[in-house]
Amino acid sequence: MKIDFLLIGQGIAGTALGYRLKQAGKIIRIIDQPSGNQSSRVAAGLFNPITGRKMVKTWFADFLFPEIIPFYKDLEKLTGESFFHEKPIYRPFLTIEEQNEWMGHSAEEGFQLYLDSIFTESQSEKLCDSFGGVMLKKSGWLEINIFLDAMQKYFSEELIQEYFSEDELKREGDLWVYKGIKAKSLIFCNGLGAMKSSFFEYLPFAPVKGEILELKQDFCPDYIVNRGVFRVYLGNGIHRVGSTYSKHDLEIGATEEAKNEILTKLNGLVDLPVNEIISHKTGIRPATRDRKPFLGKHPKAKSVYIFDGFGAKGVSLVPYFSKIMRDYLLGNTSISKEVDIARYFNYI
Ligand SMILES: Cc1cc2nc3c(=O)[nH]c(=O)nc-3n(C[C@H](O)[C@H](O)[C@H](O)COP(=O)(O)OP(=O)(O)OC[C@H]3O[C@@H](n4cnc5c(N)ncnc54)[C@H](O)[C@@H]3O)c2cc1C
Repeated sequence: MKIDFLLIGQGIAGTALGYRLKQAGKIIRIIDQPSGNQSSRVAAGLFNPITGRKMVKTWFADFLFPEIIPFYKDLEKLTGESFFHEKPIYRPFLTIEEQNEWMGHSAEEGFQLYLDSIFTESQSEKLCDSFGGVMLKKSGWLEINIFLDAMQKYFSEELIQEYFSEDELKREGDLWVYKGIKAKSLIFCNGLGAMKSSFFEYLPFAPVKGEILELKQDFCPDYIVNRGVFRVYLGNGIHRVGSTYSKHDLEIGATEEAKNEILTKLNGLVDLPVNEIISHKTGIRPATRDRKPFLGKHPKAKSVYIFDGFGAKGVSLVPYFSKIMRDYLLGNTSISKEVDIARYFNYI
């Protein structure tokens, strides 16, 4: 069997790029091991244009955000499933100074696109928001497990569910041969799995563990609340709340410490008891040292590529960057220096 691209990994990255290449008429196969660290299967799925403690426009926002809604909506149509939810994000102010600062932001051109309203009074007696807060738009969340399952059906001809072992890989002429599959090119989209690949182990990944809870609590507004932790309403009285960030503990497995951290922060956001904790999950984000994704071609090996390093923001990054990567692979464009792995060629 001769194909154009063999992708390794069907998290959100491999799924998006696989879709783009298949739509472009390329013959692909995707090998994915449905166990181990799958950051996408644990993620909250939020996309949020204004992020960080200082609440600044997220890196590349004006390129990323126009792609997000059409991309996931097209895939809903394609698969006939519902997994994409546009929802405003409400961020309470902690001080009157912060309220004033946001009043200033509301006049700035760059922010207007993402700003829905500023409230100077509390929006609910159940929220700890006595100074009001800011409602952001062009935000929401992706139900990633439903998305990935739906896309597995779309890839029914292409998906091979097993571990990809480089020991089985051979080079024959201009092709890569893997268990009978002859591929013109390989693309590693396997999150932190790429750290164990002999091709890409040199890249400076900087994994970050995250823990996340699903719990029952009253008060189910039609917006996401976000301050210290986010709280997304999933339906049936259940909320997803998280996440933690740890660069030190990289063991998969839930910790009491992280659970307590999330519950303490939630307590500072919503003035209600938690009725029940339903689940506590953990995953490791494929983050990078400079917090920019890894796109591009291996500097030495022929026809070996990477599409990875989406860190804490896979949902908002992959719609745009999968388009850039597809065009690059089809020879129509170059990759911007900020994300091209050429920035690390001296590491090899
Ligand atoms: C707690 C938590 C909360 C998060 N919240 C958000 C959020 O709200 N919004 C957001 O945008 N992002 C969030 N993220 C980050 C998000 O999960 C990542 O950005 C994204 O999922 C990365 O996707 P990926 O496809 O690159 O990697 P992964 O999802 O890790 O996928 C890699 C795939 O490759 C497979 N694989 C690896 N090695 C091999 C191999 N040798 N053979 C076969 N298969 C292999 C793995 O099994 C996996 O299926 C969160 C992450 C965590 C942990």
